[in-house]
Amino acid sequence: MSEIASLPSSMDIEHIRPLRNVAARPPWPGLPTHMTTLDDGDPHYVLPELGYALDALEPYCSAEALRIHHDHQHATYVSGANRALDRLTMARSSHDWSAINQLESDLAFNVSGHVLHSLFWTTIGPPKHERPIGDVARAIDAGFGNFESFREQFTQCGLALQGSGWVALAWEPLGGCLVIEQIHDHQSTISQGAELLMVCDLWEHAYFLEYRQSRLDWLDAFWHIVNWAAVDERLVRSNFYITRAGQPFVWPDYVRDSLR
Ligand code: FE
Repeated sequence: MSEIASLPSSMDIEHIRPLRNVAARPPWPGLPTHMTTLDDGDPHYVLPELGYALDALEPYCSAEALRIHHDHQHATYVSGANRALDRLTMARSSHDWSAINQLESDLAFNVSGHVLHSLFWTTIGPPKHERPIGDVARAIDAGFGNFESFREQFTQCGLALQGSGWVALAWEPLGGCLVIEQIHDHQSTISQGAELLMVCDLWEHAYFLEYRQSRLDWLDAFWHIVNWAAVDERLVRSNFYITRAGQPFVWPDYVRDSLR
């Protein structure tokens, strides 16, 4: 049988499309469910609502700064991601692949910006817990010694990040541990397979209105508005995922052997 003959028929494709509707299944534990819609059968990214009032983060982040960041900056990545998808659709129709590298770069940049900002709005929230709670508190102690040591490393990673980007706490399933990552722009220097649990936006647009060029002042403010309950939920749901068979997660032998 040829490869073409083995492709699904158009009827099969219509049949599987509803399964791609992530409105019913969040793409990432703890992320807003309404990041994507299927208006006419094609995926379409949408700006999720904030889960709190614009002034809920004051005095650490003003209503005006939050409104501009969410309604304008985040919205720009959403429209950029949809534009990249539309241009890829046109490229397929016209068989014009002259801009494929730029389109792939635009798609990665804008989709990652959309995912990271959606994760950011659920990483932060009205001030409540000054310190980690639950399983994530225990995992931080196990991985970094204590919260103060973790906070120092996270802050220094953010301060030292060159240019624009993010600092993130992630669950690294190969080692079964928490790691801190620097993310340049929206998508580079990410460990493949690691699941982001919390992120801090270090693009200047995230803090210039209130903190000018002081990234340290923004990072100091960030610790007051971390939603530790949401971060803990993401870790627990991640652990459920990798241990749903009741066993600790381990990579298959052929993967582990290739990594030695
Ligand atoms: Fe941002």
